[in-house]
Amino acid sequence: MSVPALAVEGVIKQYPGRRALNGVSFAIPPGVCVALLGHNGAGKTTLMKLLLGLTRPTAGAVRVLGENPAEVPLEFRRQIGFLPENVIFHDELTGRDTLRFYARLKGERLSRCDELLARVGLAEAAGRRVKTYSKGMRQRLGLAQALLGEPKVLLLDEPTTGLDPMLRQEFYRIIQELRDGGSTILLSSHVLTELEARTDLAAILRQGELAAWGSLDELRCQADLPVRLRLASADEAADVAQRLDGLAANLLTPRSLEVVCAVSDKMAALRQIAELGEVVVDLEIQLPSLDDVYVHFGHHAASEEDPR
Ligand code: ATP
Repeated sequence: MSVPALAVEGVIKQYPGRRALNGVSFAIPPGVCVALLGHNGAGKTTLMKLLLGLTRPTAGAVRVLGENPAEVPLEFRRQIGFLPENVIFHDELTGRDTLRFYARLKGERLSRCDELLARVGLAEAAGRRVKTYSKGMRQRLGLAQALLGEPKVLLLDEPTTGLDPMLRQEFYRIIQELRDGGSTILLSSHVLTELEARTDLAAILRQGELAAWGSLDELRCQADLPVRLRLASADEAADVAQRLDGLAANLLTPRSLEVVCAVSDKMAALRQIAELGEVVVDLEIQLPSLDDVYVHFGHHAASEEDPR
């Protein structure tokens, strides 16, 4: 088996008066895009800092491409790209000069900067000062910075915050290209629905513990959340509901109703609905969304600053 691109084994991170991570373990194979989810204060940024080698675990081990990130030489770090949650650049520098500054730090050829700026859609704005950039442009400049050095691993902390839907789509197109090129991506976000079709696996942190880990389908199964079957009917919905033997149905409008059942009962319910024939004029199957799964596993009601 190949070495995981990212691995954490029994990681505990204790800050004074606060345990940010409490025994977290997982391994991410190369070329996979993982969504890191969790409430405010769940430990996402702490986990990123550990993977970057910016801080060390109190207990347990962290491995990036098989190495301890806190002990690798600068050259090794070229393989890791990072986009922090709040990207701050020097306002008076142009986009191009900003990227060149980071390129020097990363030992990257300066000639690559224009290619990267074009890749994130900033070719025309490259000569403008960063202070004239919109939030979306700054975010894209941050992504270009993270892409310096051909990273095999990309850590992106809430990268789409503040981007409008079109820019988000554009951003995910670039992420998709990187993944297709073999990069491993760990991406934290609060915007859950946009991750559904774009990530292979999800990790849900709750109060510093890994509450769930797996593909969305696996998490849906584990959560065993109900499926909703929405019917539009030619007859009165109340009459139709009575003909659905043993199924829980909620009336939505005089001509529509919703059958709520477990994932395991979905096919039996669909067979019963099919037997109703032409009375059913439309049917919509609503699977639990990533939002539903997240609320199930990641919900944290207490104050996030409760010390442990
Ligand atoms: P958010 O979604 O709000 O960015 P997060 O999931 O990234 O949150 P972290 O920033 O990792 O959460 O913080 C986890 C917990 O550790 C929080 O309770 C935070 O207050 C605490 N914490 C983080 N850094 C430190 C530090 N340097 N010293 C003490 N406590 C800290």
